[in-house]
Amino acid sequence: TLFQQSVPNWLLKQAQLNSEHCAIDDGQTQLTFTQVYEQACKRAAYFSTCTKKSSIGLLCSNCIDGYLAALGILMAGKTIVWLNWRLSTRELTEQANDSQLDCILLDERLNMRPFDKRCIYLDSYQTWEQNTPESTIPASAHAPFSLSAVASVMYTSGTTGKAKSVPQTFGNHFASAVSSALNLGVLPSDVWLCATPLFHISGFSIIMRSLIYGMTVRLVSHFNAQHISAILCDEAISIMSVVPYMLRTLLALAKKDQLTYNAAMRVMLVGGGVIDKATLEECTARNIPVVQCYGMTETCSQIVALSAHDAARKLGSVGKPLFTTQLRIDPQTSEICIKTPALTPGYGNVPSVFAKRTYDGWYHTGDSGYLDDEGFLYLKGRLDDMIISGGENIYPAEIEQVLLHHSAVGSVSVVGAPSSTWGHVPVAFFVLSGSALKEKQKAADEIRFLHEIEQSVIAYARKHLAHYKAPKRCIICDALPSNASGKVLTYVLRKRAQELTFEP
Ligand code: ATP
Ligand code: MG
Repeated sequence: TLFQQSVPNWLLKQAQLNSEHCAIDDGQTQLTFTQVYEQACKRAAYFSTCTKKSSIGLLCSNCIDGYLAALGILMAGKTIVWLNWRLSTRELTEQANDSQLDCILLDERLNMRPFDKRCIYLDSYQTWEQNTPESTIPASAHAPFSLSAVASVMYTSGTTGKAKSVPQTFGNHFASAVSSALNLGVLPSDVWLCATPLFHISGFSIIMRSLIYGMTVRLVSHFNAQHISAILCDEAISIMSVVPYMLRTLLALAKKDQLTYNAAMRVMLVGGGVIDKATLEECTARNIPVVQCYGMTETCSQIVALSAHDAARKLGSVGKPLFTTQLRIDPQTSEICIKTPALTPGYGNVPSVFAKRTYDGWYHTGDSGYLDDEGFLYLKGRLDDMIISGGENIYPAEIEQVLLHHSAVGSVSVVGAPSSTWGHVPVAFFVLSGSALKEKQKAADEIRFLHEIEQSVIAYARKHLAHYKAPKRCIICDALPSNASGKVLTYVLRKRAQELTFEP
C-alpha cells in the first residue's frame, strides 16, 4: 500500500527547496532550514555513538536545543520517545523501562537531576559538535523516510488509568499534516506558534507540519498569557494551537487590556477538551478566528475540525471529519468510531487493549458524540465517564458546563455515585472560585457558609438542568485530583463518590 512506501527525508528536502526560509524562531534565535539540517546532522552523528538501540528518550523544555535534538534523533534514523517532564521520577523510570531505553537526553533548563544513569545532558555534546567530520554523519541523514517507520512514541495522559505508549509512524504524521493543510490551507507566510509542550502531540505535530509545509515555527518555552498576548499583537503569527484553558486566559487578558492581535492571525486552533459556548461567542465578538478540533494522541492530533467558514454558524461543534478521516457513530452506544491513515499501528505496551478497540476494523475512541443532519460532529463526553441514572444517560461535561456559570464555582468535575434506587446519581466535586474564597475569609461561620454554597450550587443545577441531571450532592474540595497534563483524574473522584450515602 501507499504507506509501505518511502518519501524523501523531509528536513533534507526543505533544506533544498526552502533553504533560506526560517524554520524555527524562539524570539532570539532564528534558524533557516539549511542551518537546522546541518545542526541535526551533527547531532545525529553523536547520537549514533550513544546507543545501538533504535530509540532515544527525550526530556526537554520547548527550546531550540530540544527541537534540534528531536530532529537529530530522526536524522540518526531512530525513534524519539517523548517523555513528560511533569512526571515523577518513578513514572519516568517506568516509561524508560517500558520503551527499553538505554539513552535519555536531558535538557538542563528543566533543572532536573539526572534521575537515572541513562541520562545525558543536552549540552554535553556541544563542544564535540564544533568539528564533526562529514564522514561521521550517518547515512540515515540523507536517506528517505519509510512511511511505516516509527518516528515518535508518546505516552497518553493516563486520564483513564495506565498511560498507554503510542507509536506514531512517518505515515501517520504525513496523513495528519496533509489533512490539516486541506482544511486550514497553507500560506507561504504562515508562522505557527507552538506554546503547547513538544512532548504532547499538539506541540510535536507543529514541528512535523513545519517540515512538510516548509513553514516557520515560533517556539515559546511555556504558556504565559502576558508574553503570548504580546507576541500575538506584535508578530505576524498566523496560527496558534491552544487548549481551552489557554484560550480562556488569553481572552480574559484581551478583554481587560483591549488587545487587537496582529492581522496575520488567521486560525486559533482549539482542542483537547470541552470548551464552553460563552467563550466561543466572545471570541467571535472579538474577531479571534477560533477553529475547534477533535483528536487524540492515537491519531497524531486533529482528525475532525471546524472550518473557519462554518465556525460562527456551528458554534459548539468540533466540525466535520477531515479529508482522510472516515467516521461513524455506533448506533447502540453512540461511540465515535474512526478509520484514518493517521491512526497509530497499535499500543506498544498494551496491544490487547488496541486489538479490543479495533475488533471490527474501526478504531473505537471511547468518546461519545452525534452528527447533526449536515454531518457536523458534536461531542458528548467519554463513555467511561457516562453516568446511567434510572436508565437515562448523563454526560458529566454537560453538567459541568452549567455549574461553571455559578459564581462560587472555580473548577468542577462530575461523577456518578452508586444509588440503590437509580443505579447511579451524579455528584459534583468543585473548587471555590476566587471571589467565593474571599467571601469565605470574611464569613463569621465558615462551616455554615460552605454548606450554604453547596446548597446554592445544587439549587442552581436544579433550575438549569433536567431534574435527573442535577447533582444530588455538590462537594467543595481544595483541589481536584489531576495528572501531569492537568486533566482531572475522574477515577479518583469516583472512588470518593462510592463512599457517599443518599437518602432515598
Ligand atoms: P488516556 O487515553 O490515557 O486516558 P487522554 O485520552 O486524556 O488520556 P489525549 O490523547 O491527550 O489523552 O486526549 C485525547 C482525548 O481528549 C480525546 O479522546 C477526547 O476525550 C478529549 N478531547 C480531544 N479534543 C476534544 C474537544 N475538542 N472537546 C472535548 N474533548 C476533547
Ligand atoms: Mg485517550
